Amino acid sequence: MKRFSNRIALVTGAGQGIGHSIAERFAAEGAHVVLVDIHQDVLQQSEDRLLAKGYSVSSRLADVSKTDQVDEAIHSIHQEHGAIHILANNAGIAWQEAFLDIKDDNWRRMIDVNLNGMFYVAQRVARIMKEQGVGSIINMASTNGLVGEARYAHYNASKGGVVLLTKTMAIELGVSGIRVNAVCPGYIRTPLSESIDSPETVSEYIDRYIPLGKVGKPEDVAGVFAFLASDDAAFITGESIVVDGGQLAY
Ligand code: NAD
Repeated sequence: MKRFSNRIALVTGAGQGIGHSIAERFAAEGAHVVLVDIHQDVLQQSEDRLLAKGYSVSSRLADVSKTDQVDEAIHSIHQEHGAIHILANNAGIAWQEAFLDIKDDNWRRMIDVNLNGMFYVAQRVARIMKEQGVGSIINMASTNGLVGEARYAHYNASKGGVVLLTKTMAIELGVSGIRVNAVCPGYIRTPLSESIDSPETVSEYIDRYIPLGKVGKPEDVAGVFAFLASDDAAFITGESIVVDGGQLAY
């Protein structure tokens, strides 16, 4: 019997990068995984890759920052599967911008996806988990939710919000059998990070900041999501686990 047999897991931002890896890990450990993403093309490719490996997955197109789309997606997933046991609340965006130059629209979009979207999905799923009396929610934060980094004021603010949202949810939902934790990755190689930094910048970054001497892989983060969703983490809630190759040890 696999760890997540007979479990329904929902993964947002599952089209690529860390979200795809989380979905693969849950599926490999026996869950039926529902992939959610805003982009039809990457969502379809992600689903096809996992189906080709023989995993049990399905997909729903939705923008987590739009409440009508979130409501529709979660309602239909619940109707179809009858339960949601695990939520990997992963969808997020990032780009660099000096604080003094951030346009209001850019600020709003960052907060809309990374913080508001996380809240919309978590709240709707937590209502279902409360009825079930059991569930595990894992919110994607970042080391940038714990310490500042120049040119990321909007991103840092959104991820700092996720860390405290997580703690508050854990306090309120524990009595309903729902555990809520956050994961704070450092530098992970994904399509997102590759779109921001050149290979030279990454190499300098590793030398200066990462004791393990390498950037992380999506799988390094997916394993921590799987741990937090599993019974091995049965007494862990309200925690934010850093996965950064030692960067915050400095
Ligand atoms: P990515 O861009 O490679 O993948 C993100 C996925 O989310 C994409 O498939 C994208 O289409 C989807 N998405 C974006 N906006 C969405 C929306 N509004 N609704 C639904 N889906 C949406 O990014 P990644 O590097 O895999 O990052 C995943 C998460 O991990 C993000 O929350 C990010 O902030 C966080 N994170 C990443 C790193 C890193 O170094 N890559 C570090 C710390 C935290």
